[in-house]
Amino acid sequence: MQYRNFGKLNIKGSAFGLGCMRFNGEGSQGSPANTEKAIGLIRKAIDGGVNYLDTAFVYLDQTSETIVGKALQDGYREKVTIATKMPIDRIKSREDMENMFASELQKLQTDHIDFYLMHGLNKEKWELAKKLGVDKYFNELKEAGKIRFKCFSFHGPYDEFEYIINDYDWDMVQIQYNFMDVENQAGTKGLELAGSKGIPVVIMEGLLGGRLANAPDNVQALYDAFPVKRSAVEWAFRWLCNHKEVATVLSGCNEEYQVEDNLRIFDTVEAGCMSEDELKLIDDVRAAYQSRTKIGCTGCRYCMPCPNGVSIPEVFRLWNESSLYGTDPKAGWDYKRLVDGQATPENCIECGACEAACPQYLPIIESLKDAWAYINK
Ligand code: SF4
Ligand code: SF4
Repeated sequence: MQYRNFGKLNIKGSAFGLGCMRFNGEGSQGSPANTEKAIGLIRKAIDGGVNYLDTAFVYLDQTSETIVGKALQDGYREKVTIATKMPIDRIKSREDMENMFASELQKLQTDHIDFYLMHGLNKEKWELAKKLGVDKYFNELKEAGKIRFKCFSFHGPYDEFEYIINDYDWDMVQIQYNFMDVENQAGTKGLELAGSKGIPVVIMEGLLGGRLANAPDNVQALYDAFPVKRSAVEWAFRWLCNHKEVATVLSGCNEEYQVEDNLRIFDTVEAGCMSEDELKLIDDVRAAYQSRTKIGCTGCRYCMPCPNGVSIPEVFRLWNESSLYGTDPKAGWDYKRLVDGQATPENCIECGACEAACPQYLPIIESLKDAWAYINK
């Protein structure tokens, strides 16, 4: 395992940080996590050298922190740093903050949080956090030793990222970044700004919701033609670790082989590890993906549940996969599940709740119409 500098914090974090948002039950995303299996995966990662775990109050329908807490018994807590998050949109008062933090400590079975993040900030949420006094509360927690580092995760445009990072004495930031998002969200400019301030950057969505792990034929042809052979996952992670500002790359695993593969990959990657030819390959891969992607949905499920039962991420996944891989969107179980479960876009009443929750700022209502027309053409 490679260990990387956390900017000004003077600590070393594993290049591979285990994301605890994507444990599943019986193989499909969104099903309740299998706790025993998830505990096994977490411990396997830690035994392999991972020392950074990322969770949040809301992950896995509020069960992720409990699973992590159980996994960190038997001496595992002392081997890792924990990052978890306060959901600002559920806070209305000081009492709410205190209750939220206390419940997170209890679920994680710990007396302190290493990296405590304000979850999914944009400018609007940051202004709300300040109005509620969350910024002062974080200061108090740090002074009391209840948290070690004050942090935020971010979803929004670059100018809002610049405003937030310059408006408080943050210790760490977590951003969405991958080779498709160089000019999206905080992007490369945001990464470099944080680096210039000595603030370590934790990366989420490094595989863009899994899309970069499954290369369509036009992308695979580029990888196959390149003299050095690596998997799509390895190329994506290698590209991220090439950036010196990156502290750790989060990867959510749901199978043992994924943990093992990550342990292998993150044993070899370091800043400046990619050649000019390799960087050119990734530029070409980016263009190949862009030529076929219908919508930038990462499958994060922040928009769910839809009050009218529309399975938004599943509709968008069918749309993208059909375009990327040339498959018939109506041929498999996914389409049947949507129709049988009355979860199709025809049930949308355009209430707008999903668009307000989407960290990618997607025009969900209109896109659902386009997607359904494409799928049923
Ligand atoms: S706008 Fe449509 S899809 Fe979105 S939450 Fe409302 S009913 Fe559901
Ligand atoms: S539509 Fe937006 S909120 Fe919903 S899964 Fe996709 S990216 Fe996430």
